Amino acid sequence: MKWLFILTCLSAGLQEGHVVKFSTNFDSGSIGKVTLIDSVWVRPSRTDSVLHLSYEIISRSDPDNPANPELKPSARWFYFMMEGVRGKHIYLDFKNTDPMRAVYSYDGKHFQRFEDYQASMRKVSSFFSRDTVYVAYFVPYGWELLQERLKHWTASPCVAMDTLGTSMMGLPIQILTITDPLVPDKGKNRIWIHARVHPSESPANWQLDGLLGRLTEDSPVARQYRRQSVFYVVPFANPDGVYGGYSRSNARGINQEINWDHNDSLTSVEVQFLRARMDSFMQEQPFDLVLNMHAQSDDKISYYVPTLESTNPEYHQKAMHLAYLTTDENPYFFMEDMFYSSPAPRYVEGWIWNRTKGETLAMTIEMPYSFYNNNPGRPWVTVTSLRKNGELMLRAISDFFGWNIPGRYILKGTIRGKKTVYRYENLPAGEYQVFIWKDAWVPFDDVVQKRTGIFRCVIRTDREPYTGPLRVSQKATWQN
Ligand SMILES: [Zn+2]
Repeated sequence: MKWLFILTCLSAGLQEGHVVKFSTNFDSGSIGKVTLIDSVWVRPSRTDSVLHLSYEIISRSDPDNPANPELKPSARWFYFMMEGVRGKHIYLDFKNTDPMRAVYSYDGKHFQRFEDYQASMRKVSSFFSRDTVYVAYFVPYGWELLQERLKHWTASPCVAMDTLGTSMMGLPIQILTITDPLVPDKGKNRIWIHARVHPSESPANWQLDGLLGRLTEDSPVARQYRRQSVFYVVPFANPDGVYGGYSRSNARGINQEINWDHNDSLTSVEVQFLRARMDSFMQEQPFDLVLNMHAQSDDKISYYVPTLESTNPEYHQKAMHLAYLTTDENPYFFMEDMFYSSPAPRYVEGWIWNRTKGETLAMTIEMPYSFYNNNPGRPWVTVTSLRKNGELMLRAISDFFGWNIPGRYILKGTIRGKKTVYRYENLPAGEYQVFIWKDAWVPFDDVVQKRTGIFRCVIRTDREPYTGPLRVSQKATWQN
């Protein structure tokens, strides 16, 4: 028989060494109020006794929003350190935020989720083997980590860094320009990406980290990406929010996501700098694509696809194409995961729409914190799978613009009556699989290219000719 003695249940009786110390004095740290609500000595055997401590956690609310006073300040994010937890069983009860299964780390760098049996919605119940532990809503991606990553990325001659301006608290709003400087910009696709408007949404940066890792690497595929594009990337559109551990606002309380149509007095300086730089780039040449990277409490990835009614058929079609390309052969993101919305002027999508009337496709993508496709039975979200999503997003962008990269060729056809003719001048010898696009890449044919040279393919139909792209992928390579 197992012995279980409850010895005391009086928090007032705790000695100093038994109390856990909470702190947040570090990059992205945040907590509101901590209350010890219960302390119990539990004796799991005749010789052991374990102190069980229960804390109620109120996470810190953002400041009141001067631009949108009707909105209740958000308090999703928390990230705190607990000292003095070794050998204790700690219960955390989150009152005003919604972690599904929070994450923890013993060194503040390597995080893991609490296991199923240790955590559920708003609760953690865990025994700790070391004395100091960090607990967060999700794996943090803070200012210091970004500076390390920027150092790594800017080591490439294809990556230049600049600042848009200085945030309210004096941090630089950093922007990367990524392209092959030896190839003239004329004819390249221009893509603007910004992330982390909402500071609690660290999954967005893990996804972007994967995209940037692939885009800047020294590989034949990445070199080809950089020959065909110029990427302008603002990893932290709200650096004060990230550094200060805010939830959805900047240090002034402004939710920058819905701040794009305000007059200057109620617009955050960060959005003013974003608007100014985007305007100046767009005067040179409109962007082909603007992506706004976020995370959401829904348990799925989603693109916000602009509706047909609020835009036009061609624009809506382009948005659907990019969104579905991102789901293609993606184990995390599925067609049914989409949201549909109209590009209201307060969002960057609406701001872009009003300026370019459809010339620039602008979309928001959301990563989950929990699991994918509303399915808790699938592997839960990890830094690794978020990074993979960034790579898949880049591959979708590449297909969308029809970039030809080694082993993966996207061809546009020429319509002749009911036939569509595809031609590529210099296909390397090898075995290929040919795909047509039907909201997904559908296998169409297998071909063997005996000698490097011209590739030609004709699609005939009985009705309307096929107007979509053709994908020619080399077999036995990762990108086929
Ligand atoms: Zn967001």
